[in-house]
Amino acid sequence: MAKERVLITGAAGFLGSHLCDRFIKEGYDVIGMDNLITGSMDNIAHLMGKEHFEFYHHDVSKYVHVPGELKYILHFASPASPIDYLKIPIQTLKVGAHGTHNLLGLAKDKKARILVASTSEVYGDPLVHPQTEDYYGNVNPIGPRGVYDEAKRFMESITMAYHTYHQLETRIVRIFNTYGPRMRLNDGRVLPAFIGQALRGEDLTIFGDGSQTRSFCYVDDLVEGIYRLLLSDHVYPVNVGNPDEITISEFAEEIIKLTGTKQKVIYKDLPEDDPKKRQPDITKAQKLLGWEPKVNRQEGLKITYEYFKSLDKEKLFQKEHKDFEKYIVK
Ligand code: UDP
Repeated sequence: MAKERVLITGAAGFLGSHLCDRFIKEGYDVIGMDNLITGSMDNIAHLMGKEHFEFYHHDVSKYVHVPGELKYILHFASPASPIDYLKIPIQTLKVGAHGTHNLLGLAKDKKARILVASTSEVYGDPLVHPQTEDYYGNVNPIGPRGVYDEAKRFMESITMAYHTYHQLETRIVRIFNTYGPRMRLNDGRVLPAFIGQALRGEDLTIFGDGSQTRSFCYVDDLVEGIYRLLLSDHVYPVNVGNPDEITISEFAEEIIKLTGTKQKVIYKDLPEDDPKKRQPDITKAQKLLGWEPKVNRQEGLKITYEYFKSLDKEKLFQKEHKDFEKYIVK
């Protein structure tokens, strides 16, 4: 019997590539799609040439054609680090808006169920803590993060509209900060930034006074939550993330301990609209999906550190964002 087919967009990205692995493991045929603006073929090199994997090099902001049947579509294509949105703001808007529209159209045509990757950024700089799914958020539409936040908010709207108007089977996951192997070393996000700095023998750069908080989820836990949400019958957004909240200062200390670096922390200006607090309320995911994270930060960071250490030195010193301060520091 032919296997069921799944389309995963953003397949060469951090989350997309882990999802490809999971769906192949679950016995699906996976079609991975990516335009490789922020993704890397290194993340899916191990899948290339495999019987149950096909790769389409395509930008989903343009019309998407996939021959044959599709059971599920997972839309994970998008720049996802604050520096990326600043460098490629128009593509960020287009993939959340046009890309989502194209994939909803494809899902309708194929009678496929679609899950879209939304984000805790829909809550902006939140005034409700921890963030529950019924909070509408505090987003600056014209700030540097607006291109990402508003694209994702539009993504949620159009997805719900296709559900109500076309009776499409839709799922929306709101993803909180996630980490693990295959994160881009130089995408500017805090975890690869700190680990990269430690490995290069540089000081760790804390933005602001370091009192802002984040809650970091290990990638395997996130993938499990997404998999369960896709198979559930819940059409409204569900937070998936790890509620273990930590300040960025404490996080820097953890990385210093983990890596044994002798460097110190230095302070830089806080980027505009940087959320002061972030922590998911996962009551809904616990109740509806029987899901909660299993991997604690100590374990997850160790695995992630080993991954970054295993990269070739050349990559470590390749500073794709060497000019990034001009983008984000006021
Ligand atoms: N951050 C930092 N130093 C860095 C990179 C980021 O202090 O070198 C801070 C950033 O200002 C934010 C937090 O770490 O408060 C998380 O940033 P990230 O870019 O990883 O993602 P965000 O959660 O802001 O989308």
